[in-house]
Amino acid sequence: NEQILLAERPKGMPTEQTFTFEKVDMPSINEGEVLVKTLYLSVDPYMRGRMNDTKSYVPPFQLNEVISGGIVGKVVESKADSFQEGEIVTGYLEWKRYSKASAKHLQKVDPNLAPISTALGVLGMPGLTAYFGLLDIGQPKEGETVVVSGAAGAVGTIVGQIAKIKGARVVGIAGSQEKIDYLKNELGFDAVINYKEDDVKQAVKDACPNGVDVYFDNVGGEISDAVTSQLNKFARIPLCGQIALYNLEKADIGPRVQRQLLINSALMKGFIVGDYAEQFPEGIKQLGEWVQQGRIKYSENIVEGFENVPSAFLGLFKGENLGKQLVKVADQ
Ligand code: NDP
Repeated sequence: NEQILLAERPKGMPTEQTFTFEKVDMPSINEGEVLVKTLYLSVDPYMRGRMNDTKSYVPPFQLNEVISGGIVGKVVESKADSFQEGEIVTGYLEWKRYSKASAKHLQKVDPNLAPISTALGVLGMPGLTAYFGLLDIGQPKEGETVVVSGAAGAVGTIVGQIAKIKGARVVGIAGSQEKIDYLKNELGFDAVINYKEDDVKQAVKDACPNGVDVYFDNVGGEISDAVTSQLNKFARIPLCGQIALYNLEKADIGPRVQRQLLINSALMKGFIVGDYAEQFPEGIKQLGEWVQQGRIKYSENIVEGFENVPSAFLGLFKGENLGKQLVKVADQ
């Protein structure tokens, strides 16, 4: 067996040295526990925050201890009545090839519903983040303009498509031509902005002739300054992520958004997907229906091999992923 530990608290951008691999024994399980073989492992931007020793909505990872995150795996041994050998499960597990888990911390994945990897993407945490953040806070109405940053990622791709389903005009902001083409041609976004090439403020003005009614913010920083300069009266901003700031060594001081909120009577609300935990079944059901009807498409960027978990994680900050970034650790 093998596991990945946090080797250092990164200053600025993490590197391969942030992680160490360690060979360990196979865990033995007790009554009520399950041994899980990791099949897919999720790397997520929020994990960067957990590498700092600061207060947040989840406790920090501990130095020289195993990192944990979303995993889809197969039950290889069970001492819990509720799980049988061979079943596919998901949960927050340690970054190990094989890990043990208490049965109450695992959920079953139905392999007949959709590919099992989707439990970490469109039918899992990122899909639910898009669903509840957009619909509960953003509340897009037909004909309104919705702008989403980080548009080609796990959350952003789903936000844009739900906004289209609700009849909004959708503008996506992303960082490469390939992503821009995908959003426009495959997902049907109405307009797209390449923040690495375009003058973002001018491009937002051009792409949103009627102003911005909903801004789903995945990135923060200058991109968000540009979008919030174009808000309409009563605009809503679901504040989902700030990836442009996660690796900064000094606080970022930009144009402050408060005046824009004030003069537009706008709402900006931060949220954590877990706030909606009680409504997850409803969210998964609706997302599942949309996926089955072909109204929501999803893309996965799958890196093969446990040894490539660190580089897949680092790739999130270089924009290497189109859609959900996953690591395939083993075959079923
Ligand atoms: P993504 O799949 O969107 O991957 C990250 C993407 O962010 C990259 O592909 C890259 O795309 C973009 N990016 C990286 N660095 C920068 C930068 N400096 N400026 C602008 N864009 C950048 O990740 P997720 O969909 O999983 O997460 C998206 C956001 O939502 C993150 O901020 C995350 O923390 C947040 N989040 C919040 C949750 C909540 O509960 N509130 C839950 C889940 C996610 P590009 O090529 O376009 O630069």
